[in-house]
Amino acid sequence: MTDVATRLAQLDTHLARFRDGGILNLIGGEDRPGGAGTFETRSPVDESLIARVARGDAADIDAAARAAKAAFPAWAGMDGKQRKKILHRIADLIVERADEIALCECWDTGQAWRFMSKAALRGAENFRFFADRAPSARDGQSLYTPEQMNVTSRHPIGPVGVITPWNTPFMLSTWKIAPALAAGCTVVHKPAEFSPLTARLLAEICHEAGLPNGVLNLVNGFGEDAGRALTEHPDIKAIAFVGESRTGSLIMKQGADTLKRVHFELGGKNPVVVFEDADFERALDAAIFMIYSLNGERCTSSSRLLVHESIADDFHARMVERVNAIKVGHPLDSATEIGPLIHKDHFDKVMSYVEIGKADGAICAAGGEALEGAGWFVRPTLFIGATPEMRIAREEIFGPVLTSLTFRDEDEALAIANSVAYGLAGYVWTNDLTRAMRFSDRLEAGMVWVNSENVRHLPTPFGGVKASGIGRDGGDWSFDFYMETKNTCFALGQHKIQRLGA
Ligand code: NAD
Repeated sequence: MTDVATRLAQLDTHLARFRDGGILNLIGGEDRPGGAGTFETRSPVDESLIARVARGDAADIDAAARAAKAAFPAWAGMDGKQRKKILHRIADLIVERADEIALCECWDTGQAWRFMSKAALRGAENFRFFADRAPSARDGQSLYTPEQMNVTSRHPIGPVGVITPWNTPFMLSTWKIAPALAAGCTVVHKPAEFSPLTARLLAEICHEAGLPNGVLNLVNGFGEDAGRALTEHPDIKAIAFVGESRTGSLIMKQGADTLKRVHFELGGKNPVVVFEDADFERALDAAIFMIYSLNGERCTSSSRLLVHESIADDFHARMVERVNAIKVGHPLDSATEIGPLIHKDHFDKVMSYVEIGKADGAICAAGGEALEGAGWFVRPTLFIGATPEMRIAREEIFGPVLTSLTFRDEDEALAIANSVAYGLAGYVWTNDLTRAMRFSDRLEAGMVWVNSENVRHLPTPFGGVKASGIGRDGGDWSFDFYMETKNTCFALGQHKIQRLGA
């Protein structure tokens, strides 16, 4: 049997129960149908029906928020060491079921097995990382003056809403949910409607690991009803959102009446800047990897290549060779490097940018077309000869489409890099240390990698500036969002108190 046939057979056994019973919500530890009926989730590989999904409405969100509120005092009050044990157990179960999670993720999202098999394990690492931090999550500082001792302590903010997108949904959900639980918050999770499978698996795993009922609640549904209701619910104290910038803006408005705290990880149009003195081969590998891996459906993808004019022709020639050799195919094939895009709507959006790029005068040097037959497959595409004003150089395409621009000197590279609305990540390739430091200092981005692709070290902050986000995740930064800091001031003695009316 081929890889694909073996994995399809395994997948079939995992999906049988969803085909028969649908994907249900999980509220207060109980399976629940959706108040608004069901919707379909289909595989982007061949458009086949995977399952019908409970379509949650405002009443379901209300039930989930109430369950999260009821579970909050006990979970928040639990000894952090106990929370640590449960979170480690969740990580253990993710590892045990990593293949099942990866298979479901590939089939639901079109992401290639070679990346998803690692993403499931990465999700387990996220849980382990925050499990180890749970016992110290409440820790604060002593801030002393001769007259007072100030003691700060941290307290979980309350029930929170987590709203996630369809790209690498399992990994991203763990990135939000693990720190929330470690902090002592309870959660209502509203996953993306295009990729509900692994959110259900995560909720089941959490319960199997001993997470008390109501601590993590799952409500599937659409953004405009279930998502909206979650952002407006008075018992939900904060919203951790990952998705498009314009949705972030809507969520901010929706949450205004209830004064929601928000944490936003939004879109990007991230530059990879290759100077003339860069390590050519490594820069080439990284630039290709960062735009075409994960189908280009990746917030930190290096979707704008800025290459110095003196090396541009060579760089482009080598790129065209490599891009044309990228293997587009079935996501369950170990050899596949690019699978199908998530959905027809997204496929149409990506293909429309190919037309926009051509109409605006850029040269399509590789790709630019869909694969024939079923599924939303797009060949990896490279535009050269583009200018910074073109839409393909400014707008997030979120697919395997790279726009290359050339620059004459450092100042011009910086001006182009900073000229877009986004500011999530930047990649700088140079062997001149001073230039690397100067350039990354002036780059408008929340994260910069110098002479590297995106490699995450879990304690470091993750997030963007400008239209790419608000707030930071990672390490203690996650607790800044999920917790309130309280200051308690103890007077040390006999400081003078003003006597009014005396
Ligand atoms: P999206 O904004 O369309 O949807 C994301 C989630 O928001 C979904 O669950 C959706 O149902 C929900 N939603 C939609 N409208 C809503 C509303 N009015 N109220 C509440 N919830 C609502 O994004 P998408 O297309 O699923 O994901 C792709 C986007 O996510 C890209 O822009 C990408 O850059 C971004 N992203 C950013 C990061 C990051 O870390 N910065 C990571 C991954 C993805």
